[in-house]
Amino acid sequence: MPIDATQAYDDQNIFAKILRDEIPAKRVYEDQWAIAFHDINPQAPTHILVIPRGPYVSWDDFSANASGETIAGFVRAVGTVARDMGLVAPGYRLLANTGGHGGQEVPHLHVHLFAGQPLGPMLA
Ligand code: C5P
Repeated sequence: MPIDATQAYDDQNIFAKILRDEIPAKRVYEDQWAIAFHDINPQAPTHILVIPRGPYVSWDDFSANASGETIAGFVRAVGTVARDMGLVAPGYRLLANTGGHGGQEVPHLHVHLFAGQPLGPMLA
């Protein structure tokens, strides 16, 4: 069920629990701004989710309310994950579903990183 991107942050959401290590995830990266882990239902040969450590519901919440330092740290972390995984030369795709029409299911900002094959014009 897609979320309402204007809702208040719920610290019981599944990614908040992953951040607190209350449920497992296959982590590939972490720093002070972000963690990254394999999506449990991959839609491409490589499908990673990068999430900020802070309590942001969506891309909208993050872009409106996070500090410049936090935004810069998160954006750098996304780029670092792709670079560390050797994805820059073959190429990759980033996606941040936002709210109902965006199909966002988990109410903690996450950027999908897809790679591992030519992805075509769009991922549905
Ligand atoms: O952008 P959206 O909210 O639809 O994506 C949520 C993603 O979180 C899905 O790709 C889903 O497979 C993934 N997920 C996960 N681990 C969980 C719960 C959901 O990787 N425990």
